[in-house]
Amino acid sequence: MNLQSSDSFPNVAVIGAGAAGYFAAITCAESFRRARVVILEASRQPLYKVGISGGGRCNVTNNNFEIERLLQGYPRGHKELIGPFQRFATRDTVNWFAARGVKLKAEADGRMFPISDDSATIIKCLEEAAEKAGVHVWLHARVDAVQTREISGFTISLKEGEVQEFDRVLIATGSSPSGYKIAQSLGHTIVPPVPSLFTFNIKDNRLRDFAGLSFEDAHLELRFPDDKHLKWSGPLLITHWGLSGPAVLKLSAWGARLLYASRYQAELVVNFLGTMSNADVLQRMRDYRNEFPKRTIVGHNFLPIVKRYWERTVRRAGIDDDTSWSHITREQMQQIADELTQAVFVVTGKGEFKDEFVTAGGVKLKEVDFRSMESRLRPGLYFAGEVLDIDGITGGYNFQAAWSTGWVAGKSIGLVQDYGKNESGNQGTENNDE
Ligand SMILES: Cc1cc2nc3c(=O)[nH]c(=O)nc-3n(C[C@H](O)[C@H](O)[C@H](O)COP(=O)(O)OP(=O)(O)OC[C@H]3O[C@@H](n4cnc5c(N)ncnc54)[C@H](O)[C@@H]3O)c2cc1C
Repeated sequence: MNLQSSDSFPNVAVIGAGAAGYFAAITCAESFRRARVVILEASRQPLYKVGISGGGRCNVTNNNFEIERLLQGYPRGHKELIGPFQRFATRDTVNWFAARGVKLKAEADGRMFPISDDSATIIKCLEEAAEKAGVHVWLHARVDAVQTREISGFTISLKEGEVQEFDRVLIATGSSPSGYKIAQSLGHTIVPPVPSLFTFNIKDNRLRDFAGLSFEDAHLELRFPDDKHLKWSGPLLITHWGLSGPAVLKLSAWGARLLYASRYQAELVVNFLGTMSNADVLQRMRDYRNEFPKRTIVGHNFLPIVKRYWERTVRRAGIDDDTSWSHITREQMQQIADELTQAVFVVTGKGEFKDEFVTAGGVKLKEVDFRSMESRLRPGLYFAGEVLDIDGITGGYNFQAAWSTGWVAGKSIGLVQDYGKNESGNQGTENNDE
C-alpha cells in the first residue's frame, strides 16, 4: 500500500484501534474524503476493550444529556471536556450509532447499552463504518517510536523494523505504557498513571456471609489519616471481599490519587440509611417503642434497611431474639443508630471491578488544544481517549470521553489549511459536515 501523501491531502496515522482511535479515524475519513487514514494496532484484535466492556454488553454512554451534569462525571478532565462536549456529547453518540443502524437503550441508572445487549454489535458497527469510509486497519502493527521530520510530518517506526511516513499522527493508545513513552519522546508530560474504578477490600465480621446484599442509597465518607476526606451517596453492595456498588466505584474514581498515595488504606464511614441522621433513627426507635412495646426488636424492623442486616445489627447490640421493644436500653438504641448511620470500616486494599476499569493519569491536559485535540507542543500531533489525563466515573462516561475526543480529533486532523504542502490554499474540508 502506498502511503505517500497526495499533493494536498494528508496521510493520517491513528495509533491504536480502540474506541477513540476508531472514532477519530472514521470521523476523519468521513469528513475528508481524500485524506488517507490508517489505524496502526499492536494486537491482532481491534476494539478489544469494547468487546469486554460492560460485562460483554458495552455500556456505550450515559443518558445524562445535560452537559453541565455530564461533566460532573469526570474527576479528571471536567474543565477540558466542556468544548468537546459542546460539539459531540452523549446525545450525539446515541444519534451517531442510530444513524448507522444501532439503537441504544437506557437502564434505570442511566447506563446505555445496544438493544442487543451484546458488545459485538458495537464492534461490528464501528468496523463497518470504518470500512465504508475507507479507513485502513493494520493489525500486528505495534508502533515503537514516532519522530518528527525536518520540515513537517512524522516518521513512525514499527516493531518489525518497518518505517512509514505520515503527515499527521493521532496517539490513541489508551493506558498502554508504550503510548505514554511515545508522547514523552515528543516532549509531552505524563501525569503518573494510577488505577481508578475499583472496589474496597474490607475484612469485617459485620459483612461476613452477606455477599450480594445491597443498600439502595447509602452515604459514604472516605477518611484519610491527614484529615482529607471524600463523600459520595448511592447504591452500595456487599461482596465476598468487602464493599462495591456505584457509590464505592465513584469514591474510588474521585479518590484514585489519594487512595494510591495512602496505599489503599483508609477509613470508610457508612450511613446505610442515606440521608437519615443518627438523631432521626433514635427518634424513630423511641416512637416505635412507645407505639409497639410488645413487639420483638429483632423481628420488627421498621427502617428502610435489609432485614438480615437489621437482625445482625440488633444481635450485635447484645439483644436476644425474644427481647421486646419495651426492654431496649438507651445504650442499645444508641449502638444500633451508630451502626446504621455511622459505621466505621477499615479499607485495607483495592479489589477488582470486572465490568469496567480505567486509568487516571496520562498526557498532561494543558499541553493539548481541546478545540482540535492537537498537541500544543508538536503541530500535526493529536491525542484522543484514555491516553489523556481524563477518566470518568462508571456508567459509560469513559467511552463517552473516547467518542468525544476522537470525534473532535477526527474533525481537525484532516484539515488542510495549515498544511505545509498545500500551496493552493485549498481548505480541504470537502464533505466536512460540521
Ligand atoms: C474490563 C473493562 C470494561 C470496561 N467497560 C466499560 C464500559 O462499559 N463503559 C465505559 O464507558 N468504559 C468502559 N471501560 C473503559 C473503556 O474501555 C476505556 O476507557 C476505553 O476503551 C478507552 O478507549 P481508548 O481507545 O482510549 O483506549 P483502548 O480501548 O485501550 O485502545 C487502545 C488501543 O491501542 C493499542 N495500542 C497500545 N499501544 C500501541 C502501540 N504502541 N502501537 C499500536 N497500538 C497500540 C492497544 O492494543 C489498544 O487496542 C472498560 C474498561 C475495562 C478494562
